[in-house]
Amino acid sequence: MHSWGIAIDFDPANNQLRWGRDRARMAKPAYAPFLNAWESEGWISLGRERNFDWMHVQAARL
Ligand SMILES: [Zn+2]
Repeated sequence: MHSWGIAIDFDPANNQLRWGRDRARMAKPAYAPFLNAWESEGWISLGRERNFDWMHVQAARL
């Protein structure tokens, strides 16, 4: 997805690939408006969908 330019990672140090919602910063309530904004434009959060890779949003369905 990244190589096609349709995925973006945010703050990877605090949202490591294998971390779940118990550790990932992006899973905290303060980040909900940020992820809601992406989802309102049709993007998907892997963290919300699959509970890993919370840094990652993509403009393609799973
Ligand atoms: Zn990614």
